[in-house]
Amino acid sequence: MNKTVRKAVIAGNWKMNKTPAEAKALLEEIKPLVKDAGCVVVVCVPYVDLAAALEATAGTGIGVGAENCHWEVSGAYTGEVSAQMLASMGVQYVIIGHSERRTYFGDTDVTVQKRARAALDAGLTVILCVGETLEQREQGITAELVAMQAKIALQGVSREELARVIIAYEPVWAIGTGRTATAEQANEVCALIREVVKELYDAGAAQALTIQYGGSMNAKNAAELLAQPDVDGGLIGGASLKAPDFAEIVKAATVG
Ligand code: PEP
Repeated sequence: MNKTVRKAVIAGNWKMNKTPAEAKALLEEIKPLVKDAGCVVVVCVPYVDLAAALEATAGTGIGVGAENCHWEVSGAYTGEVSAQMLASMGVQYVIIGHSERRTYFGDTDVTVQKRARAALDAGLTVILCVGETLEQREQGITAELVAMQAKIALQGVSREELARVIIAYEPVWAIGTGRTATAEQANEVCALIREVVKELYDAGAAQALTIQYGGSMNAKNAAELLAQPDVDGGLIGGASLKAPDFAEIVKAATVG
């Protein structure tokens, strides 16, 4: 990563794990371990844990994010939570377009764009996930697919708003599988995303954009992945639920 021009961001994605009491306990464990972090540290937690996470991280510099949001501000959308609601609580980040939302909950490039738009309108920072399935990689369409996902999601996002967008490259075949992209594979696609952003905006905007890798990043492989020039951090699932492992990744980002 190139820390002279952009921020390294390590974000945990807790998925559907931890009760509020467990969230508090995990954060109390994480806090002392990351207090000297030389990168941005974020935890994205289930909606029910947001209040506990905000309370536990107050004054620490650890950012708190949600894992999704709806595109409308309010209305008859039973079970949904709006970006405005998240912002009103003090939540700063939201993951949009995670592959689990695309696979299990019908999120499409179009709804991802709408959610990202709403999140930016509410003042949140978006962690926008893109990535190919194994089948798509084997078909040789990774570059086109990831470019298309990024282009659709960024439709209508101004250059100024781009400062509140982080793109997470998450190959679907590497998420929760223990199968990590090689450092070269991760860097290649992160660099490609940066080229797409350069085409859409300009070289300065592309250079300033934080692009994370996500997919079975852990305490052992983080340093190699984060040493790549176009990998500016990580979106971490499983390993973010273990304080020492998460802290080790934060340490790797601090050094890298
Ligand atoms: C994720 O959920 O975004 C993720 C990368 O998960 P894992 O680290 O468990 O592969």
